[in-house]
Amino acid sequence: VKEEVGGEEYRRLKRKGLQMTHQRKVVLDAVREASGHPDAQEVYRRARAKAPSISLGTVYRTLGVLCDVGLLRERRFEEAQSRYELEREEHFHAICTDCGLIRDVAALGFGDLLAQARVGTGFDLVEQKVEFYGRCPECQSRN
Ligand SMILES: [Zn+2]
Ligand SMILES: [Zn+2]
Repeated sequence: VKEEVGGEEYRRLKRKGLQMTHQRKVVLDAVREASGHPDAQEVYRRARAKAPSISLGTVYRTLGVLCDVGLLRERRFEEAQSRYELEREEHFHAICTDCGLIRDVAALGFGDLLAQARVGTGFDLVEQKVEFYGRCPECQSRN
């Protein structure tokens, strides 16, 4: 079997009959390079540096496609716009109440918590949203 260039990301798209186009790659890289939870505007700013002709509409559509195939994950925090991050293992979030910084928190014991919630409710639970609020180290040091 010939290994494809790009590995898993290409395979995920291919499974849905899609290809890794230049635009998809640019948008995916923009989210990766933002190394956090960028919103579409930030992804757009970063993507434009590599693909000057890309439009905000294309960025939105591409983010949607990349979420559908499981490469990205859309997150809603307490704001109007969605944020995006690479799909990876389940985790929680810590959000700074001063500057809005969002950091990932390892979801230790998540499997047990999920099992308990399923048994307790009988729900077929598919998603969680755990958010911790407080001040980040930088805001703490500013007083
Ligand atoms: Zn902060
Ligand atoms: Zn995250």
